[in-house]
Amino acid sequence: MILTFPHMGSVYILVKTLFDELGATYVIPPKGSKKTLELGTKYCPEMACLPLKINVGNFLESIEKGADTIVITGGCGPCRFGYYAEMHRQMFKDMGQDVEIITIEIDDTGIKGLIAKLRYLFPNKSLLSIANAIVKAFSNMKEADKLDALSYKVRPREQEKGATDAIMNKFEADVLMVTGAKEITKLIKKTQKKLKAVPLIAGYEPMKIGIVGEIYTLVEPLTNMNIEKTLGNMGVEVNRVLTTSHWIDQHILKAGLKIGKRDFEKAAYPYIKTMIGGHAQETAGHTVMYANSGYDGVIQIYPLTCMPEVVAGSILPTISKDKDIPVLTLVMDEITGEAGYITRVDAFVDMLIRKKDKEKQNERVLSRS
Ligand code: SF4
Repeated sequence: MILTFPHMGSVYILVKTLFDELGATYVIPPKGSKKTLELGTKYCPEMACLPLKINVGNFLESIEKGADTIVITGGCGPCRFGYYAEMHRQMFKDMGQDVEIITIEIDDTGIKGLIAKLRYLFPNKSLLSIANAIVKAFSNMKEADKLDALSYKVRPREQEKGATDAIMNKFEADVLMVTGAKEITKLIKKTQKKLKAVPLIAGYEPMKIGIVGEIYTLVEPLTNMNIEKTLGNMGVEVNRVLTTSHWIDQHILKAGLKIGKRDFEKAAYPYIKTMIGGHAQETAGHTVMYANSGYDGVIQIYPLTCMPEVVAGSILPTISKDKDIPVLTLVMDEITGEAGYITRVDAFVDMLIRKKDKEKQNERVLSRS
């Protein structure tokens, strides 16, 4: 059995840790590219979500490299994610691809069904060693997300342009060459140290932008056209609360333990009172939280036809007005052009700089009067 899984930013670090620890044979799909998108677009219905199209492209590239079993997560709820797994099964059958699809989810067979699937995937491993591997994988995912967050702080402040990108590019190449949880952790820590040692521009206070939206589009550089890098290289500090480890923490651990309303739910409450699928509540809640923390602006990114984000997007102008925080919405699909995208981001940053300058001028006038 040769396993594969969908690419979604640095999720491969979580899965690689898990599969290495459990001794599985697997193929990491190549990084998302134009070819991935073309393959997915060719076989998926036009109105399917962009993440689904990229997943299909990923799987076809992995099958070319020998994968025969696809491992994906499943779910239920008001958005289309709930029937992705079944759609994949039908599509690969129609394509004549002899590939098995295992969905990791708690369905109507309950926890028993999930355990049976894990036993099938890792036949020679005890449940305890599977649980241990999951804990190590989650820990590495958290560290990898912290590494990304650190790069968002360092990049706009670096003295030598490209220093952060060079460190992160090397990390992405090196992590594929190491095996096992321990080695991956060591490499992440080493890279964190390198980032902390990058010489910074003294006294530079960058503009701060929060990123919100649909998780796949936010986490996967192919679908957000490297928004964090683009803004960082414009001298802007970026923050994105919605990461894979944050999602696991909030939606699996905290929601599972039922320990009351999560921060984003409380912040979103005056605007969206209930879960409507996808990340709509997080988009609204995080926008409020960014405004309350003094961020200069928020960018919402989501794939065309994503219902929950369309709803959140219709509420953001109200939050923007109530909280006096500018919001830019970027809707992505397979024909979104990079030049137009960069122009919009550039114009948004320019507008934020002018707004900040004006506010400073007004403060100076007020302090003199
Ligand atoms: S959140 Fe949006 S993009 Fe993601 S599966 Fe649901 S509808 Fe599709």
